[in-house]
Amino acid sequence: MLSIRNLTAGYGNVEALHGIDIEIADGEIVALVGGNGAGKTTLLMTICGRPQPWTGDIVFDGRSLVGLPTFQIARRGVAHVPEGRHIFPRMSVLENLKMGALLADPKQFDADLAYVLDLLPHLKPMLANRGGTLSGGEQQMLAIGRALMGRPKMLLLDEPSLGLAPLTAQLVFSIIAKINKERGTTVLLIEQNAYQALKLAHRGYVIVNGKITQSGPCADLLADPAIQAAYLG
Ligand code: ATP
Repeated sequence: MLSIRNLTAGYGNVEALHGIDIEIADGEIVALVGGNGAGKTTLLMTICGRPQPWTGDIVFDGRSLVGLPTFQIARRGVAHVPEGRHIFPRMSVLENLKMGALLADPKQFDADLAYVLDLLPHLKPMLANRGGTLSGGEQQMLAIGRALMGRPKMLLLDEPSLGLAPLTAQLVFSIIAKINKERGTTVLLIEQNAYQALKLAHRGYVIVNGKITQSGPCADLLADPAIQAAYLG
């Protein structure tokens, strides 16, 4: 589904990603874990076209994304749930969900809304509320719901548990698992919460200072003493 080869990218003349290689199969959940400033967000942003890659290729569903503007990458079926949610605070919950449906076939709207509200029942009584009045956890669910309204083939999730109470974070992780199981949506999940991310995902990658240092099935990564010492406390 996604093949990233020898990717370098950065800001100005500062290189933040140094030759990244990542493969994600259709229907997989892959976790990318790493500390602050390792390059996780930059990688997701680069997949979405801002910044553009300096070298290397990003092939999604058989075609390169390099050089495409972000809206065309979204049209190809990539949905990004950014760090900090970035819902539209002055729009209602329903309007936020409608924004996510802009790229979808309008005939699918009712079915997609029903699916999202079934998946995220917390949002049901809040459809008329402004997004900005929701709690952090509710906003995270709204950001995920908004992304799903476009029927993406792949979800890119940037630190979905950040700033959430542990129980709410658990709920968000279980929702991600459900989306993957029920819809077969491929997921790239980046997290500082390495333990939860590796428990949820099928395979994982570790990124340190813009380079992938380890990869493999999550069970192997969770059992690795170096990863335990660095990320699992
Ligand atoms: P965090 O978990 O703290 O969000 P991260 O792993 O997502 O970290 P990035 O935000 O991708 O890391 O940052 C990677 C590097 O790129 C860091 O050195 C950071 O300072 C730098 N960087 C990130 N955004 C910008 C920007 N807009 N302009 C210049 N440098 C940036």
